[in-house]
Amino acid sequence: MKQILIVEDDNTIQYALSELLREEGFGVSGAFSLQEAEEQDLGGVDLVLLDLGLPDGEGWDFLNKKHCGRMPPVIILTAREDEEDIIRGLDMGADDYVTKPFKSGVLLSRIRAVLRRGKNDPDGQQEQILICGNILLDKGKTVAFAGGKELALTAGEFRLLQYLMENRNITITRGLLLAHFWDSAEEYVNDNTLSVMVKRLREKLGEESRQMLKTVRGIGYKMEDFND
Ligand code: CA
Repeated sequence: MKQILIVEDDNTIQYALSELLREEGFGVSGAFSLQEAEEQDLGGVDLVLLDLGLPDGEGWDFLNKKHCGRMPPVIILTAREDEEDIIRGLDMGADDYVTKPFKSGVLLSRIRAVLRRGKNDPDGQQEQILICGNILLDKGKTVAFAGGKELALTAGEFRLLQYLMENRNITITRGLLLAHFWDSAEEYVNDNTLSVMVKRLREKLGEESRQMLKTVRGIGYKMEDFND
């Protein structure tokens, strides 16, 4: 059974979340403050849901510790929806960012996607080969194939494809994609660049494979794998 730690000071949300997760077959533990979260034995925890505004500090302080040793994947769960916060969260090593109020189905999908990324992976390494329909992407070798043919992708297109494949069957908002493409050189990928990048990627994927890369109107994109 996968164990999820909920770091959340709001009693109602803490209660509703743990009920939801237990119904879905997860083991749940709760922390109502940063201190309680830090006192938890994280060895047995597979995923952390992290609120940012806590009574004794900010969720960022907990996330900071992610760099200092083994830490399970973290999904930030917060009412803050500024792009700056999302970027900061992902930069600090959070695995995903979900804003409140959230739909339970969406949160569960995100949780499963993050857990799936970490599967087959005793050492915290992410899975190296991603497959979606007839597209195969090898993260280690940075190569991707569609229908057995190697794709000539730019670094940006490769990262975009990888991110969509890691989150297959989940709609990724444009905002989250933009946040993900903030790189260390502070070279910001803007909305237009993203549209162009998706268009080029589709062209390169070819007629059959590109059908899996769906546009969800007004929201973002989704890599659809019917076999999943
Ligand atoms: Ca709070």
